[in-house]
Amino acid sequence: MHHMTLAEIARGLADKKFSSVELTTTLLARIAQLDPQLNSFISLTQDLALSQAKAADARRANGENGALLGAPIAHKDLFCTQGIRTSCGSKMLDNFKAPYDATVVAKLAAAGTVTLGKTNMDEFAMGSGNESSFYGPAKNPWNLECVPGGSSGGSAAAVAARLLPAATGTDTGGSIRQPAALTNLTGLKPTYGRVSRWGMIAYASSLDQGGPLARTAEDCAILLQGMAGFDPNDSTSIDEPVPDYSASLNGSLQGLRIGVPKEYFSAGLDPRIAELIHTSVKELEKLGAVIKEISLPNMQHAIPAYYVIAPAEASSNLSRFDGVRFGYRCENPTKLEDLYKRSRGEGFGTEVQRRIMVGAYALSAGYYDAYYLKAQKIRRLIKNDFMSAFNEVDIILGPTTPNPAWKIGAKSSDPVAAYLEDVYTITANLAGLPGLSMPAGFVDGLPVGVQLLAPYFQEGRLLNVAHQYQLNTDWHTRTPTGF
Ligand code: GLN
Repeated sequence: MHHMTLAEIARGLADKKFSSVELTTTLLARIAQLDPQLNSFISLTQDLALSQAKAADARRANGENGALLGAPIAHKDLFCTQGIRTSCGSKMLDNFKAPYDATVVAKLAAAGTVTLGKTNMDEFAMGSGNESSFYGPAKNPWNLECVPGGSSGGSAAAVAARLLPAATGTDTGGSIRQPAALTNLTGLKPTYGRVSRWGMIAYASSLDQGGPLARTAEDCAILLQGMAGFDPNDSTSIDEPVPDYSASLNGSLQGLRIGVPKEYFSAGLDPRIAELIHTSVKELEKLGAVIKEISLPNMQHAIPAYYVIAPAEASSNLSRFDGVRFGYRCENPTKLEDLYKRSRGEGFGTEVQRRIMVGAYALSAGYYDAYYLKAQKIRRLIKNDFMSAFNEVDIILGPTTPNPAWKIGAKSSDPVAAYLEDVYTITANLAGLPGLSMPAGFVDGLPVGVQLLAPYFQEGRLLNVAHQYQLNTDWHTRTPTGF
């Protein structure tokens, strides 16, 4: 049962081959057996899962038939879940039970999903390896010594290990696409504003976006359908109708113009990954796509700009964790300043403190123009590069990451080495564009992802290309040994 995709589960439930309660019970047992190796969950929600499964079975018995009705999923532990610990991977929120559900959680629950638990993540979503979690690193099922990617590493590890068919993630600079690439999954970061951020604990508000992690593009379409849509509670949510993503999967790729930026193949990219990207380009050419070399001239400035903007926004967002209102409070504070200092010093981990310091510095009087304002100008140049590229092509294609998964701890002493892993993903966040990563082969037994980017609100186009690719390749069907 655990090998089924969301689409297969929906058919099985509709055909009464099994019930949601049976499926949920099977997966909960599998999680209990295998998750100790992976550490992909921070909290399990067995009771909630069984009651949601029962309710979904009852709704089906009454004639309802939604694609997500009775489907088991998990949420990255930064989506607020009412009455359930929502830790954000931090000691700061280890004791925090959210008083309400995030819009994404509420929408998926209304569609009939069954929440198995909350997944492991980098602390406050800051990281690319799931190594900064207060709950310890999640492991990559393809090699338990390696990172599953981050920050949505727990969601990726759990889905890749077939503990469940799909999970939610969030992507501020690549945290859906990069772990998808490193664990052989399909992951989609929607257009900024497509999925509500209400109840999603903020890292960098102008970049954060929730989205699906699953094994196939078909399943990403199903999960995204349940997540997307206007939300009056999120002032940056966009009031655009949500198309039928599953209906967009079967379009022909004949004549589709795919742009491959020449800057993507510079030093820093593992040549074996470059080779696999070229192979995936040939595969899409066979399906009728037309390939064009394009240029994104400002791409080289993306990492420095991102690592000013994201920490700047984080330093502001995380000021709310002061030991008074949420989460951790130090023992016996002597005065107010001592309360702030020690609660934040003890509650936040090293990487979070580093980002807060960088961000506060970049925003401080005297430095604001030199760093923050400059970074915002670069952000605009990067967006303009994309706008001119999309005058010529329909999709931009390249690697998702420059390297496959690394050994846990290998980059801990050098944070900048980890930041460089984001080189291909962060530009989409800076520009607000949708992006998808899909499996494209293996290097040394570790998965490699190919990234597709599209113009605003063209999630359907990304899913269409990925689905057609997956009908003609079998990388996404490969399963890690032992799972
Ligand atoms: N690796 C990037 C960072 O650390 C992106 C993380 C994310 O997308 N949440 O900021």
